[in-house]
Amino acid sequence: MVKFSDWFDSSLNASIHAVYSFAFIDEGAKREIRRKTLKAVAIPGYQVPFGSRDMPVARGWGTGGLQLTLSLIGTDDILKVIDQGSDESVNAVNIRQFVERVTSVQTTEDTTRATVIQTRHRIPEEHLKDGQILVFQVPIPEPLRDVEPSERETRRMHAEADYSRMWLFLYEDIVRYREISIGARYPVMVNGRYIMDPSPIPRWDVPRLHQADTLYLFGAGREKRIYAIPPHTRVEPLEFEDHRFRVEDFSGRRCTRCGRDDTYLDELIDDASGTRVYTCSDTSYCAKTEREKAV
Ligand SMILES: [Zn+2]
Repeated sequence: MVKFSDWFDSSLNASIHAVYSFAFIDEGAKREIRRKTLKAVAIPGYQVPFGSRDMPVARGWGTGGLQLTLSLIGTDDILKVIDQGSDESVNAVNIRQFVERVTSVQTTEDTTRATVIQTRHRIPEEHLKDGQILVFQVPIPEPLRDVEPSERETRRMHAEADYSRMWLFLYEDIVRYREISIGARYPVMVNGRYIMDPSPIPRWDVPRLHQADTLYLFGAGREKRIYAIPPHTRVEPLEFEDHRFRVEDFSGRRCTRCGRDDTYLDELIDDASGTRVYTCSDTSYCAKTEREKAV
């Protein structure tokens, strides 16, 4: 007897290849997204509006990143998709399978093999080289949104580099909490010109945006914005001379799986003992370390 799921999968595959062009998005739309991406690369940190298309995933689930990936990917590319550092979360698996289905490109979990990496909320631990592109899924592209609700006004502030209210916001944060309390979405100054939202990566990842070998692209589908950090660009977290930016402190902790003490760690509660344990957020790097130790 024919299984429904098999029938559904094969008919969906057949219809996708019959109806859609390579990488799902039509060529005109791809050209527009590539043009906007080039503009974003030419003006590091500047948010370029683009005509965000409907994707077969809900807005808020990575449609901006997905559109960038689909407009850039070629048949020779090798794709990796992560969500909070994990290759195996539902969102990462769905996006990876979708891109695989509409492009037939190779996919991998190995950061060093991938040419295009789409990510939500993390930069992989392993050093990214030139020739690799990291595509971020961005929920809120506007770094000034917390201090100014009006889009028109934030555009003026960016145009005039009028960032005094952002600095005041950070100052008030220090007065209240004795330090800058922002965790993820830590604002950065790109190329000495634009304040940019690096998407909700932990502070741990922020220094890796600075003078990187890799091209970083940011796509916000719902908010219809693309922005970029080209390789070898100055990216500085906002800080005061007497209140420096600092990353999360994991001193004295290590991953319970692979034993590393130099990665960004997720905190879990061990069911059996009820105690706190830590594991690498970057699951493929963790597994690779375990494999290397086993040899
Ligand atoms: Zn680990």
